[in-house]
Amino acid sequence: MPSFGVMDILERAMAMEERGEDIVHLEIGEPDFDTPDVVKQAAITAIKKGETKYTHSLGLAALRQAIARSIQKDYGVEVSQERIMVTAGTSNGLYLLLSSLIEKGDEVIMSTPCYSCYPNFVSYLGGKPVLVRLDEKARFQPDPAAIAKKITRRTKAILINSPSNPTGMVMDPDVIERIASLGPMVVSDEIYHGLVYEGRARSILEYTDDAFVINGFSKKYAMTGWRLGYIIAPERYVRPMQKIQQNFSISVNSFVQWGGVAALNRGGAFVRKSVQEYDRRRLYMLKRLEEIGLPVAHPPQGAYYFFTNASRLGKDSMALTIRILEEAKVAVTPGIDFGPGGEGYLRLTYASAMSQIKKGLARLGKFAQG
Ligand code: PMP
Repeated sequence: MPSFGVMDILERAMAMEERGEDIVHLEIGEPDFDTPDVVKQAAITAIKKGETKYTHSLGLAALRQAIARSIQKDYGVEVSQERIMVTAGTSNGLYLLLSSLIEKGDEVIMSTPCYSCYPNFVSYLGGKPVLVRLDEKARFQPDPAAIAKKITRRTKAILINSPSNPTGMVMDPDVIERIASLGPMVVSDEIYHGLVYEGRARSILEYTDDAFVINGFSKKYAMTGWRLGYIIAPERYVRPMQKIQQNFSISVNSFVQWGGVAALNRGGAFVRKSVQEYDRRRLYMLKRLEEIGLPVAHPPQGAYYFFTNASRLGKDSMALTIRILEEAKVAVTPGIDFGPGGEGYLRLTYASAMSQIKKGLARLGKFAQG
């Protein structure tokens, strides 16, 4: 299992901070906002009421119903609660899903660059990640024809992610539609839905029922530490995943699930406010990156990342990241962490506070001037 590169950078930066250095964090995709009060209060109330026991292995009915209602509201799609399984985060959801799906030697098609854990999960389970390159000139949109060419009899799934980490791109509707019709099951990581500044993110469920959605509360509701997510699956796949959950975790933390119910039912105002603030940071970062000579060909439309070609500062993105950390005292994520298609790029997040973004870009500007 390769390490999760961004965590290595974060931990290196933390060691420097322990030595008294002032580091600006633009590496880890963690909202600087606090979890909304309505969510915290719901969890506290749940604890006080004794909601401290195991729950159903698929999750609380109240949470699964709230998830089904949110899917209906956001996409106009009906999903029964029997198709929903609550998980300890999107990461855990993807792991449960892939472990029920993959046999040794099975292939999973994904983009490069893509979220760094995807290929690691597949390899760890004995499967084979099959990478399809994205091109910045094509707005980092996946090419369904290129994906089709990689399909073999061992292909178990196509893994997509829109809005994307690391590129911030929102997949065009016709691209999702064509991927949905290619044949293999599609696993759609929709964790950045709700954090969109241009256009609208489509769910795979708008095109087919026969697909998986993984999602979670970390990003939209600033709940990274709560570890809460869910899977929506075709009914025939639910039982195998449920058996894995029963054996490995029994259930997801009970009062955390009550926090999730509150987020879905009463977190709308918080999300609207955060999206406005992220957008303000996005536009600022876009302008500053251009000024310091790290241009972005296509502004990100969603999530909270810029993926900028920094090859003029160094072709080896890991070596460049370490130089930026040590010389400019700014932590960023090397493009190579997202696979070979990310080499030469750096990912910078605007989930960090505006003051940090301003300070970090000023330092990066000086660094870029040499
Ligand atoms: N998928 C993507 C694309 C992500 O960026 C992340 C978090 N960085 C995750 C999944 C994992 O999220 P969670 O906190 O829900 O496990």
